[in-house]
Amino acid sequence: MDKTEKFQSTCCYCGVGCGVVVQKQPNGQLTLTGDAEHPSNKGMLCSKGMNLHYTVMDQTDRILYPRMRYSRASPLQRVSWDEALERAAAVFATLIRQHGPDSVAFYVSGQCLTEEYYLVNKLIKGFIGSNNIDTNSRLCMSSAVVGYKLSLGEDSVPVCYDDIEVADVFLVTGANPAWCHPILWRRIEARKAANPHVKIICVDPRKTDTARSADLHLPISPGTDVLFNHALAKALIENGSIDHDFIQQHTDGFEDLLSLIDDICIQEAAITCGLPEEDIRQAAQWIGQAKGFLSLWTMGLNQSVIGVNKNLSLINLHLITGRIGSPGNGPFSLTGQPNAMGGRETGGLANILPAHRDVTNPAHRSHMEAFWQTPVPISEKPGLTATEIFEALDEGKLKALWIINTNPMVSMPDINRVEKAMGKAKFVVVQDISERADTVAHADLVLPAAGWLEKEGTMTNAERRITYLPKVMEAPGEALPDVEIIWKFAQKMGFKEAFSYTKAEDVYLEYARCTANTNIDITGVNYELLQRKRSIQWPSPKNHPAENGGTQRLFEDHQFFTNTKRAKIHAPPIYNESEKTDSEFPLVLTTGRIRDQWHTMTKTGRVSRLTRHIPKPVVQIHPADAEARNIQDGDLVVVQGRRGQVRLKAECSEDLRQGVCFLPMHWGKIAGLADTRANNLTNALVDPRSKEPDFKYTAVQVSRY
Ligand code: SF4
Repeated sequence: MDKTEKFQSTCCYCGVGCGVVVQKQPNGQLTLTGDAEHPSNKGMLCSKGMNLHYTVMDQTDRILYPRMRYSRASPLQRVSWDEALERAAAVFATLIRQHGPDSVAFYVSGQCLTEEYYLVNKLIKGFIGSNNIDTNSRLCMSSAVVGYKLSLGEDSVPVCYDDIEVADVFLVTGANPAWCHPILWRRIEARKAANPHVKIICVDPRKTDTARSADLHLPISPGTDVLFNHALAKALIENGSIDHDFIQQHTDGFEDLLSLIDDICIQEAAITCGLPEEDIRQAAQWIGQAKGFLSLWTMGLNQSVIGVNKNLSLINLHLITGRIGSPGNGPFSLTGQPNAMGGRETGGLANILPAHRDVTNPAHRSHMEAFWQTPVPISEKPGLTATEIFEALDEGKLKALWIINTNPMVSMPDINRVEKAMGKAKFVVVQDISERADTVAHADLVLPAAGWLEKEGTMTNAERRITYLPKVMEAPGEALPDVEIIWKFAQKMGFKEAFSYTKAEDVYLEYARCTANTNIDITGVNYELLQRKRSIQWPSPKNHPAENGGTQRLFEDHQFFTNTKRAKIHAPPIYNESEKTDSEFPLVLTTGRIRDQWHTMTKTGRVSRLTRHIPKPVVQIHPADAEARNIQDGDLVVVQGRRGQVRLKAECSEDLRQGVCFLPMHWGKIAGLADTRANNLTNALVDPRSKEPDFKYTAVQVSRY
């Protein structure tokens, strides 16, 4: 190669899915810019995206070769791919023979490409005969998934990013897009700057950068979101701002909501939510007057023991006002990871099958059994979800776990129990790119995976937009694309014919075929089209004008994905089921992201430009709470909860509600320093329907060390 090569790809951090242009110099050096042709970001990139190429060029932490050990007392030793996969297949086969297919599980990631997600699902659900596969997206989006299914009939984000440019009111709730989805936030800021009548309402117990830019910040008391949304609904009804025709023609359930909120007094609700009543009424007035009303949310709603109820009560606001399925209107869950949506499309949760099919639906199972030509029936029993996987390991019911591209030893709630559970596993495989992943230390078999730019495939971003990611460079050492590792392992398990792929595109085309005639039909989309058009929004079936970019917005005909084609208004109860604060643990801890770090920092933690922003974790505490505990800004403190503690410095900040403290989620065990994992404190309480953990509400005490 003697000249610079240019590739269009997609940022592999958050669900905004920004397009990037990577230039590869003849000496192998990479430069990276935003892709002006990509409709999601129009050339813009945030600090993480701008520095992405440094994480690729610095390969000092890469896992280069398969390594294996025969006993926990022995060190990992280099082995060949053949030895590694033969041993893995032999162990899996033995455990399945002795204890049944549910004795093994896969735990995967929203970082995985669509092809990888599809193939590992095919392997375990169709050929091993267990539904024990779940993803770290369970920790992120599953409450929104259930909320959409129950309200709209399917896990379907109805809006597109272009709706930002026509909305008048943005209700940002339980989210900090200024830090976590920066490019979408810049589009919202630009919309407001050009149109001063546009209103931004931010509902968050913390005064984040998003809240600072809002016209109205509502620092809600944690756990009261359902009551708040119901109070907004009541105010909309009182103001005459609801759309009776839409409700009558396109929804069911309004009477149930009416009878529930009949008992809600907005004045009393405001007191419970810790907000001024006039602010709730102001928000309702703006929403009622808006031509375009977008609600945007992330983990403040989803990561909750009542996450589904929070989602349902928010989606209600769109259904009672008819603000859905038209430009600038709709509920818009902001996806955390780059391919969380693609994973769900391919069946990447323990309870679903490809193309949003359901493992509990006999017709869906039969369809996939015939499509895959499975040697065993697909199990009708939903598999273990993320937290259940580690509980089952702890209880000895699960024997082997294969972890792909995620770092549960930092990210799972109640991490001390998870660590103990990992010690009880008979066999742990970790397939990853980085030795920095804390989970590697628990592996019996470590497999080197190819990273971003080292493999090809597709991802779907938060507006249902599928993009193609080309292979730009060779992976180091013996690292292989994840999709290839999976098909090679499946072949070693004896499933040669069904996994006889030679390239990622074969896997993609098979997956696309199984979406035929579903609501997410992408039979009209292939690699050639994606390379030419850059991106397509699903659905985009054959004979659909995919050349125009697919389907921009869902439900424009107000025909929803329920059996009746009518959306369902729910009447969720208002009570929070989180663990209780008491005199011993009187503060509510909430965890979250900071601007320049990503997940457990295995990539961003290596880029000095990013670590400069916030170099070390601190616990933020309100000055009044600090004073009551004789804590000064910068003091070393212990944050103690019912399951563990962390020791780190305190930062006194009026940006928090009194009674609430905040810890960033990113840090693992820092070598030589104290264990500052936020998940020493969190608990594995989950929403009963979405199984998403309650990361945003932990009872703690903070005291001077
Ligand atoms: Fe990447 Fe998200 Fe930043 Fe876009 S907003 S550059 S997708 S991290």
